Amino acid sequence: MSENKGILIITTAADGKTAASAAELFGAASSAAPAGAVNAAVIGTGTAAAALETGTFGVSRAFAIETAERLPGTVINAVISAVSALKPYLIIMAEDDLGRDLAPMLASALQTAAVTDVVSLKNENGQTVITRPVYGGNALADYVIETEPQIITIRPKAFEPAAAGNGQTPEITELSLPADECSVCLVERFEVKQEGLRIEDAKIVIGGGRGLGGPEGFAQLKELADLVGGSVGASRPPCDQDWWPESAQIGITGKVIAPDLYIAIGISGSSQHLSGVAGAKTTVAINKDPEANIFNSATYGIVADWKKVLPALTVKVRELTGN
Ligand SMILES: Cc1cc2nc3c(=O)[nH]c(=O)nc-3n(C[C@H](O)[C@H](O)[C@H](O)COP(=O)(O)OP(=O)(O)OC[C@H]3O[C@@H](n4cnc5c(N)ncnc54)[C@H](O)[C@@H]3O)c2cc1C
Repeated sequence: MSENKGILIITTAADGKTAASAAELFGAASSAAPAGAVNAAVIGTGTAAAALETGTFGVSRAFAIETAERLPGTVINAVISAVSALKPYLIIMAEDDLGRDLAPMLASALQTAAVTDVVSLKNENGQTVITRPVYGGNALADYVIETEPQIITIRPKAFEPAAAGNGQTPEITELSLPADECSVCLVERFEVKQEGLRIEDAKIVIGGGRGLGGPEGFAQLKELADLVGGSVGASRPPCDQDWWPESAQIGITGKVIAPDLYIAIGISGSSQHLSGVAGAKTTVAINKDPEANIFNSATYGIVADWKKVLPALTVKVRELTGN
């Protein structure tokens, strides 16, 4: 391995505000080995202001890459310029729409390797051991990248966010993109309708599965979620059948959530679903099948027909909350 040149965090910004996931990226950097200077590249809009904000995490040098589209093919050359200037041994980005595509493209361009969807990092004898789920979340695998820069994307909510401090004022370099540099171009952008709290942000999430039997069941889940200030998510079948919006699908091909309380109703507990809720602090499962796999990972289990349990639970919560 070459001389340690520190870590590069690649994050995004919209209207000058750094993405909320940035704190988790800096949190992940503190588990990497060896420690070193942490610098940043910020991609999006209002990036000069957002790059300045990274100083609160101790960044001394930040690159601002201004683009409304945030397409990997458009930003890659600017990112390579930042990498060439800093020569980091490790690059960390979020496992999001940008990171998922940019990490392997960057690894290919820099003749190195990328590990995506990372859930933990540990320092073993000065080497960063990278852990990610494999086989649909049924097992965890450890990796060591022997080329540099090592590139990783981290799973949302897998790392404790770093605390922002007084920090310092970073030196900002603005990198511009040639107007016609677009191999994959954005054709249309539309906003996904969001009613209430996003499942990624809710402290209490109530998840409904195929066992709810139809969209009517979700109306009952929503009533309970509203009472406790929570949000409703779903396994994949209800989203596939339009019982509940796809934006609230939980799992390996949906959202990864880490609420304080997850209540899984009529969900069998497939590995694809469970890999999206592994970070929940407490899980309560309601399922009429005592052999359902969800009970193997639940903190509390209720073996019953949800149609009997849910109304009683809702009445009790109304009583306790006075709503
Ligand atoms: C590549 C790939 C990616 C996938 N990604 C995801 C993903 O991101 N998220 C995801 O969730 N799935 C995903 N899946 C699908 C996954 O494999 C399962 O098929 C799915 O999670 C099952 O959803 P479910 O538990 O709601 O339904 P089921 O497995 O059909 O379970 C329904 C449960 O409801 C219970 N039930 C029925 N009636 C009642 C009642 N009245 N009261 C109480 N309990 C009742 C049943 O006992 C059963 O356990 C993926 C699959 C593949 C192949």
